[in-house]
Amino acid sequence: MSQAFDVLVIGGGPGGYIAAIRAAQLGFKVACAESNAYDDPKGEPRLGGTCLNVGCIPSKALLASSEEFEKIGHHAADHGIKVSSVSIDSKKMVSRKDDIVTKMTGGIQYLFRKNKITLLKGHASFEGKGADGYQVKIDGKDKETVSAKNVIIATGSKARHLPGLSVDNVLICDNEGALKFDSVPKKLGVIGAGVIGLELGSVWRRLGSEVTVLEALPSFLAACDVSIAKEAQKLFVKQGLNINMGVKIGDVKADKKGVVVNYTDSAGKAAKLECDRLIVSVGRVPNTDKLGLDKIGLKVDERGFIPIDDHTCATSAPGVYAVGDVVRGPMLAHKAEDEGVLAAEVIAGQKPHIDYNCIPWVIYTDPEIAWVGKTEQALKEAGVAYKAGQFPFAANGRALGMGRADGFIKVLADAKTDEILGVHIIGPNASDLIAEAAVAMEFKAAAEDIARICHPHPSLSEVMREAALATDQRALNM
Ligand code: FAD
Repeated sequence: MSQAFDVLVIGGGPGGYIAAIRAAQLGFKVACAESNAYDDPKGEPRLGGTCLNVGCIPSKALLASSEEFEKIGHHAADHGIKVSSVSIDSKKMVSRKDDIVTKMTGGIQYLFRKNKITLLKGHASFEGKGADGYQVKIDGKDKETVSAKNVIIATGSKARHLPGLSVDNVLICDNEGALKFDSVPKKLGVIGAGVIGLELGSVWRRLGSEVTVLEALPSFLAACDVSIAKEAQKLFVKQGLNINMGVKIGDVKADKKGVVVNYTDSAGKAAKLECDRLIVSVGRVPNTDKLGLDKIGLKVDERGFIPIDDHTCATSAPGVYAVGDVVRGPMLAHKAEDEGVLAAEVIAGQKPHIDYNCIPWVIYTDPEIAWVGKTEQALKEAGVAYKAGQFPFAANGRALGMGRADGFIKVLADAKTDEILGVHIIGPNASDLIAEAAVAMEFKAAAEDIARICHPHPSLSEVMREAALATDQRALNM
């Protein structure tokens, strides 16, 4: 007899594995199907999805290594520390990253055992609906058809590739190849100045690559607040990133000598980029291939996403939910996790809620960029009367002591009610500092609330307080 579950989760990424754990906590009999072995030596499907295997975690491990390298090589002297020579062992750096990934995927396996979640190893696809729920075929190391009363689709996304450009993940790489370079390329090309392109470009620039970024859009980091994007572009160019906006990519050739990208620059002039390796980071597409959605009457939208109810993540098939990168909204691991928890709780009859306006965004460049809520340009466009307060890290003792004084925090608050509408950071530890703003916005705090709360001294968080005070021209240290 086939196995029957209350909840089957398809995909073991942050959306899927968290949904499985929450559903198990709520007392359901749960299974989670995962097909991708990533680089597992035994070819065993690995949990953690894109985030853990080829995304957030490995990229941050490499970022940390490259930061250490840059600190020792370039900033140690400012502290009076003399270092005679610094070199990088890229293989060691990559194997450290692999060890972290292996440890963490093992951690999720442990959590599955602890929560009595059945891992189904293989590609899952719908076969239809029977008396005991949805019939889902598992095809891989496990071969069986299981049934489930509820299904949470958390199949994530994969890198978008440009037509006519073949990614071999050696010379021309997407995120997967770019996370396992075995040596530092002398010249690195990056197509796409989005989050992933800038993060990976920054890693290899710090390690000594000459990095050129080609971007089709005319404006840099268009999703960010304009003033943050401007500051970021200025700082990245100063650090040595060659950023070319408004280009049109032509043909790309790769051979033993390297890669040549022909493109038209923003002035319409033909140009050529010669590099040793090329990273293509032009967005991601949802994974819905061979999922058998048609067998349960589901269709994807024009961009390939599974349509859902905005409040419950329910699809139009009763008992089928979809979360994470495979549905609308920001492609962020923490958004996927929160939707996974929400779907499990909706199945349990609870009434969870996600305020998408309070989801923080982070770009792990140096300095980091992070924001939550509305940008200044969005408020202007919507005709909202607001006030802005900005404070630089250069006026903060802790930032100066750390030698990390670039950037600023900007707080946007409603002109009448003082409610915080958006917070934008470019500066050290922005990824941690933004959490205070997210909490404040979830609680509908006013700028005055942050301004009145005692912040530790000396700390980077004082910049948040000063920016909140600055919305009323009351910054104390400027
Ligand atoms: P995924 O993590 O993509 O997981 C989906 C899983 O489902 C995959 O393992 C896939 O193999 C499996 N699957 C697909 N189809 C099937 C099927 N039919 N049967 C069985 N299994 C299936 N986000 C952040 O928030 N912070 C970051 O710092 C960050 N850095 C990133 C860096 C890079 C280089 C990349 C590429 C992404 C980064 N992201 C980051 C984005 C983040 O990784 C994704 O938003 C997140 O992984 C989405 O989670 P998910 O569970 O929806 O999908």
